[in-house]
Amino acid sequence: MLKVDDIHVYYGDSYILQGISLEVGEGEIVALLGRNGAGKTTTMRSIIGYNPPARGRITFMNEVISGRPVYENVRRGLGYVPEERRIFPDLTVSENLEVASRPARPGQTPWDLERLFHTFPLLVRLRQHLGGELSGGEQQMLAIARALAGNPRLLLLDEPCEGLAPVIVESLGNIISGLKRELPILMAEQNSHFALAIADRAYVIDKGRICHQGDACELSENEEIKSRYLAV
Ligand code: ATP
Repeated sequence: MLKVDDIHVYYGDSYILQGISLEVGEGEIVALLGRNGAGKTTTMRSIIGYNPPARGRITFMNEVISGRPVYENVRRGLGYVPEERRIFPDLTVSENLEVASRPARPGQTPWDLERLFHTFPLLVRLRQHLGGELSGGEQQMLAIARALAGNPRLLLLDEPCEGLAPVIVESLGNIISGLKRELPILMAEQNSHFALAIADRAYVIDKGRICHQGDACELSENEEIKSRYLAV
């Protein structure tokens, strides 16, 4: 469904992504793992369109999307939850969801408010609270719910459990696992324990290159890769 084919990305003179290739298929949760600074966020930003690749190609639903603006990629069905969440602090939880709402696509069950609150029960009692009043975990739930409100076909999640308390991480993991029935997900994570427990497959990125890829179960038992490339 999503195919990243040998992308090369620069920040000024810095050569950051040095030929990244990955794929996400229907019904899959795919993890992109790696230490701080490995290039996970840059990969996600390239896919959504903030850092277009200088070389290489990204296709989504058989259409080339690399080089296209973010709003077009969102309109085509990419949902993006950035690392810093970027919820609207002066809008209520309900308003944050309402402003992000987009019509569902043919054949899709729409992510209306009722369905979103059913999926994220923590947000129900916070409906009238301002985004800026929420805890980190509540903000993360809202950020994912808000991306879903756009009725995407595929979700890009950048470091969903960063900085969250363990109890919130656990319930977030359950929610993300449940979302697999609804749409494919590409999730960048430093927390490999969290990501490998819910992903089907994983790619490990180091210094802007994919250094390992495989089945999540196989990787979670690969102590060499985990100790060499992942924070465990
Ligand atoms: P993190 O977990 O810290 O987000 P990451 O794996 O997502 O790590 P990136 O944020 O993609 O890594 O960063 C990859 C490399 O690009 C790092 O060396 C970083 O210093 C560099 N970098 C990131 N953003 C910029 C920028 N705006 N200008 C220059 N270099 C950048």
